[in-house]
Amino acid sequence: MQVKKSNSFLSDFEKEEIENLAEYISLSYFQKGPVDVELIAEKENISFCYGNYEESYDGLLEHEYGSFHIYINIDRLQHAYTERARFTFAHELGHYFIDRHRNALSKGLINSHPSFTGFVSDIKMEREADYFASCLLIPKKWVQEYCFKKSFSFRIIQELSKLHQVSLTATAIRFAIIGCHPIMVVCSQNNRVKWYWSTSDFPFWTLKHGKEKVPVDTAVGEYFLNGTKYDSSETVYADDWFKVKFQDDYDRKFYEQCIYGYDNTVISILWED
Ligand SMILES: [Zn+2]
Repeated sequence: MQVKKSNSFLSDFEKEEIENLAEYISLSYFQKGPVDVELIAEKENISFCYGNYEESYDGLLEHEYGSFHIYINIDRLQHAYTERARFTFAHELGHYFIDRHRNALSKGLINSHPSFTGFVSDIKMEREADYFASCLLIPKKWVQEYCFKKSFSFRIIQELSKLHQVSLTATAIRFAIIGCHPIMVVCSQNNRVKWYWSTSDFPFWTLKHGKEKVPVDTAVGEYFLNGTKYDSSETVYADDWFKVKFQDDYDRKFYEQCIYGYDNTVISILWED
C-alpha cells in the first residue's frame, strides 16, 4: 500500500503541476540563483510597487483595465529586499502565473485578495501561491546539483537559504519536498501541529499525538512549555516524536533543529545521521 506521507492539503498532482510551472519560469530566465523576481515581473509586463499599507496584507495582486499590478507592503515586511518581501513578491507572481488564479481575477470572479504569506494560511489559493513561490525561488534542479554527494546537516539548509535569499523555513520545506536526504518538517503554532511534510523515504509518518498537540519531550515542545529556544540541533528519539510500531525503533536517535518564526510559529526539521 502506498502510504501518503505529506499532510499539506495540496494533492501530489497539484504540487507537481505548480512545481513544473514555477521551475519552468525560473530555469527559462536564470542559470543559477538567486532568482530576480522583479525581472520576471518586468518581462511579463506586471507593474509593481513597495509601499506602506500598515497591517492590511503582505502582498496583493491587482487587475485593472487589463493590466496586473503587484503591491508589496513594507510595513509588514520591513523593506523591499528582505527574504519575506522576496517571497511575497514570488507568491503574488504565483497568483498571476497559476491559470485559475489569474483567470478568476481577470474575469472578476474574485476581488484582489490580500495575501498573508508563509505557509500558515488555511486558504487553498494562498497555499498554492506559497508553494509556487518556494518552487520559483528554489528550483529542484539547483538543489539537487548543490546536494550531490553531500551528507545532510542543518548547514545545508543554511547555505541554500543564503544562496537563494529565501528564509530558512521556506528552504527547509522545499528541501523536504525535493528529498535529497530523509527529513521531516513539522510546522507548529500555539502548541498544535499545523502541518508536516516528509520525504518519501523518511522512516516514520505518524506523529505521536497527530496534529492535536505538540509532543512535550521535543525541542519545540519545550518552547511551548516554557519558552526555551535552541540555536543548535537537539537530540531527540523516535518515541518522543512519532507513533512507533516496533520496539527496536523506540530509541532511534534523531536530530531536531527549530526555526522560530513570527505569530508563535515554529518549524522543526527532523533527520537521522
Ligand atoms: Zn496570496
